[in-house]
Amino acid sequence: MEEKTKTPPPSTPQSSEDEYEKICYICRRPESKAGPMIQMPGNMSLCHDCMQKAFDAVTKGGMDLSQIQNMPYMNLNLADFANMNLPNTEIPQKKRIKKKSAKPQAPAFSIKDIPAPHKIKSSLDEYVIGQEQAKKVMAVAVYNHYKRVFYKDSAGSAQEEDITIEKSNILMIGPTGSGKTYLVKTLARLLDVPLAIADATALTEAGYIGDDIESVVSKLLAAADNDVEKAERGIIFIDEIDKIAKKKNTNTRDVSGESVQQELLKLLEGSVVEVPVGSNQKNALTPMATVNTDNILFICGGAFPDLEDIIKQRLNKTSSIGFKAELKDRYDDDPDILSHVVNKDLRTFGMIPEFLGRLPVVVTLRKLTSPMLVEILKRPKNAIIKQYAKLLALDEVKLVFEDEALEWIAREALERETGARALRAIMEEFMLDIMFEVPKDPGIGTVVITKGYLEKNGGPRIEMRG
Ligand code: ADP
Repeated sequence: MEEKTKTPPPSTPQSSEDEYEKICYICRRPESKAGPMIQMPGNMSLCHDCMQKAFDAVTKGGMDLSQIQNMPYMNLNLADFANMNLPNTEIPQKKRIKKKSAKPQAPAFSIKDIPAPHKIKSSLDEYVIGQEQAKKVMAVAVYNHYKRVFYKDSAGSAQEEDITIEKSNILMIGPTGSGKTYLVKTLARLLDVPLAIADATALTEAGYIGDDIESVVSKLLAAADNDVEKAERGIIFIDEIDKIAKKKNTNTRDVSGESVQQELLKLLEGSVVEVPVGSNQKNALTPMATVNTDNILFICGGAFPDLEDIIKQRLNKTSSIGFKAELKDRYDDDPDILSHVVNKDLRTFGMIPEFLGRLPVVVTLRKLTSPMLVEILKRPKNAIIKQYAKLLALDEVKLVFEDEALEWIAREALERETGARALRAIMEEFMLDIMFEVPKDPGIGTVVITKGYLEKNGGPRIEMRG
């Protein structure tokens, strides 16, 4: 019996499979933790510990062999297994962990690969309209973050040097539909790093119904194709962070508010966590991977309703004293009131100081105005109007929007108070008829969307070919 463990196992075909770690079929630990695996028929891998335990159970009399005549494979030569139709024990792709690269090779990117802040900003400009200050702050923060990652990698460990560059996670504050998620998504795509978007409202303190805090890291790992090294340089965006503010006037345990902030602390500042692979639940059947969150950039975003009032109150209080008193109400109509936010306001809102301390960069986004919405309709690389124009161009039809029509759509969107999100919904509503009718008549050369058509006073202006 002992002999058999030493003989090299019949190996399965090697291919791109090599990129993934083998996982023990019994204890579900990956190769990096449990050591080399013994390959069994049916694509089953066993770690040495589990194999040894199985042998011990047999040799130390832990098993009564006379009772197991029903075990179908007992009398067979192992070589016969290859010809048998065994149930497929292969672990699904999404539950597998990519191997860490064996040799300590050059880091995945060098400092030269990180675009300078002005380049990051000008790339963002192609997609994100307005929000100039936010784009600038984000570009610098992201640049510094990846410089820190690089600096740590090249110095071996930051401790060797005198200066430790601290992590600069970001807190993004801005109304719904002002482009928070869009900004982060665009940034991750430009930098070519994996991104996970999680919702803070789904998180609860460990042990309560809801997602554990580590599930956000699990999502990032999935976004990085289960490649731990890639995930460790990724970005995690936690949306709706204002929903985990400390509940006011509550006597019960705040399992989805303050406790979640507490539990997020260790992730934000960098710690080593064990996360289930391909699932957000830990159980005996899910393989686990170890991820260090130290180099992961955390961006927390939220609309923080009422924060404006808190800021105004504070500002008005200070200006109502002494000679500034006459300026009391000057902040009431300030469209950029959020940019005056200070740590104290966020604490009043219900964020705990330790949590805020780990999000040193604060970015505020403005509510989108009507001219900005018009720009969003037509200017970005993948602007909605450009998308519709492309669709009709495939039928050789030109689509034109009158300026007045665009302004009408922007005004309508403002009324819905969901920021730029309303634009697509409005476009869908009136483009449906056009997309349905136009292909009927091959003579149509140009469709002009007029304000009258949007107000339901007549149809669009149609110009025939030739
Ligand atoms: P939120 O701030 O609520 O996260 P999103 O980022 O999800 O808002 O915005 C919704 C959509 O609106 C985006 O997918 C994007 O297409 C559009 N959008 C929002 N803000 C901008 C902007 N500043 N520039 C271009 N498009 C934007």
